[in-house]
Amino acid sequence: MNYQEIFIEVNKKLKSCKDDGTVASYIPELHKVSPSKFGVHMCTVTGENYGFGDSEEKFSIQSISKVLSLSMAFEIEKNQLWKRVGVEPSGNPFNSLVQLEYDAGIPRNPFINAGAIVIADILISKLKNPNIEFIDFVRKLSGNNEINYCERIAKSEKSKGHRNAALCNLMKSFGNIENNIHDVIEFYFDLCSIEMTCSELARTFLFLANYGVNPLDGEKIISSSKSKRINAVMQLCGLYDEAGEFSFKVGLPGKSGVGGGIAVVHPGKYSMVVWSPRLNKKGNSSKGLRFLEEFTSYTESSIF
Ligand code: GLN
Repeated sequence: MNYQEIFIEVNKKLKSCKDDGTVASYIPELHKVSPSKFGVHMCTVTGENYGFGDSEEKFSIQSISKVLSLSMAFEIEKNQLWKRVGVEPSGNPFNSLVQLEYDAGIPRNPFINAGAIVIADILISKLKNPNIEFIDFVRKLSGNNEINYCERIAKSEKSKGHRNAALCNLMKSFGNIENNIHDVIEFYFDLCSIEMTCSELARTFLFLANYGVNPLDGEKIISSSKSKRINAVMQLCGLYDEAGEFSFKVGLPGKSGVGGGIAVVHPGKYSMVVWSPRLNKKGNSSKGLRFLEEFTSYTESSIF
């Protein structure tokens, strides 16, 4: 398929829709991004690349990093991991405190903030140098040694991160956080602050489109069974309380972030990232969602 032409075609279809929503402002630095940015990049498991628009411009990957931290922690902890975090959709906003109280400090899944904070805690417990080892993992997957945390964005979020601190405190009170709260939250914010382009991020996700193996060099990143499970959690929980709608309209495992990115994988075929900073009420990229819906309909390439 000539995906390049399809991207142009799908983008034309979106021209008639209003680019609604607003750029995230609760992290002050994110609000500075131009709302009209739009990029797409696809990597196929056979090594082809297709880019469109602002696909080579860096953006804040935010919650998309939760898939990468889960991949690393799952590989280390194996199934022990699921004693501390569930695999059920939350049906609540990504930063909600409510359910955590009812569930005695066990987050519903690793892709809501509480779940990713537990994953950050696990990485701190298990790794000698969590910050360095995590960024090295992302650099290896992306094929770019320059990928880094963005201090400016991390600092900005740290200055307003009271709700995430509350989640961490609540879980600590239930005994589900082992390390010092400050260290866990700081590491969590660093993970969210990473900046990447659509093309770097699509390449990073390629192992999940290829049963845990990086198809570009044959390196096994995780087992195919773990890759299947991570994709399953993305399918059910990757877009928070909009995961059902995303499944219904797009039909691919995906993960969004409040920087406006959405990463999706089609196992056996491709990984793809769209970026458009305006978010809908659920905190997911408005235009990104519409683009993916049109794209999978046009190409008939959902997993269902
Ligand atoms: N860093 C953001 C937060 O913790 C990530 C949220 C997101 O991308 N959905 O609120």
